[in-house]
Amino acid sequence: MALSVKLAAFAAATAFTASAAFAQTYPDRSITMVVPFAAGGPTDTVGRLVAEKMSADLGQTILVENVGGAGGTLGAGQVATAEADGYTILLHHIGMATSASLYRNLAYNPTEAFEYVGLVTEVPMTLVARKDFEPTDMASFITYVKANAETITMANAGIGAASHLCGMLFMQAMEAPIVTVPYKGTGPAMTELLGGQVDIMCDQTTNTTEQIKGGTIKAFAVTSPARLEIFPDLPTVAEGGLPGMEVSIWHGIYTPKGTPAEVNDRLAASLQKALADPEIVAKFGELGTAPSPAADATPAALKAKLEGEIARWKPVIEAAGVYAD
Ligand code: ASP
Repeated sequence: MALSVKLAAFAAATAFTASAAFAQTYPDRSITMVVPFAAGGPTDTVGRLVAEKMSADLGQTILVENVGGAGGTLGAGQVATAEADGYTILLHHIGMATSASLYRNLAYNPTEAFEYVGLVTEVPMTLVARKDFEPTDMASFITYVKANAETITMANAGIGAASHLCGMLFMQAMEAPIVTVPYKGTGPAMTELLGGQVDIMCDQTTNTTEQIKGGTIKAFAVTSPARLEIFPDLPTVAEGGLPGMEVSIWHGIYTPKGTPAEVNDRLAASLQKALADPEIVAKFGELGTAPSPAADATPAALKAKLEGEIARWKPVIEAAGVYAD
């Protein structure tokens, strides 16, 4: 064997042993999970539930850090440039795919800046309004919004957020531009909806269920293909006359590019365990969602999902002509 070949083989073997040894001791300190939206919102809720269960399995605490703003792109950008050592992870949603087309100058390439851990959940959305908003059902909601589009305000969590995507689909379906008000997350947006400072929002059930059930906001429809068990009386958007608005908000966990495969696999195993935990299944169920099955909580499944979703939403976003810099 030529010396260079022997050296290359030695280097490869050493690298393998080093990363295998690293994986054996990983994690030996706390991990930061960046949630790219404000505390108290739907992604934060999912992140904190999963982080707590994964911490128990990993034997180290996963600390949630909320880095809200710009529809999730600031937090994702922070993780894209973090150390690829398994101690910084990102919980992001469908916005990872839509921001690839929505932003002209994204600081990172969603398919190149990260490694994949796995899918977490797919959450339906709800079309909601402040409690004293005039319409009482989906039919009157559509008529009212069409007639008053210029004066109604719609909250979202910035361009690239799920609430932005749903709002965009809503405006396309209604053929009416509505004034949008961006927040760092729909946690703070919900506070303003409850306070009556903003009129309507499309947000995930993980952030709206409690308020809908408590009667502190009004709900008109769900964006899932079928009605939800927790809201049997709430029509689907298709039943309500807006079939093009069907959307569900998938979430996944990522690590910075270059994070060792053994570490991503270890995190995926922990994620699968967390998602199978009866407490998580019950809690997610109460919030109108369900954990992803173990087969989807894998690096390969998340990679395929992200790539498929970038391709799926690109033409929709181009047709809407919405861009951000
Ligand atoms: N997921 C965001 C949040 O947690 C909201 C959104 O994407 O619309 O605030």
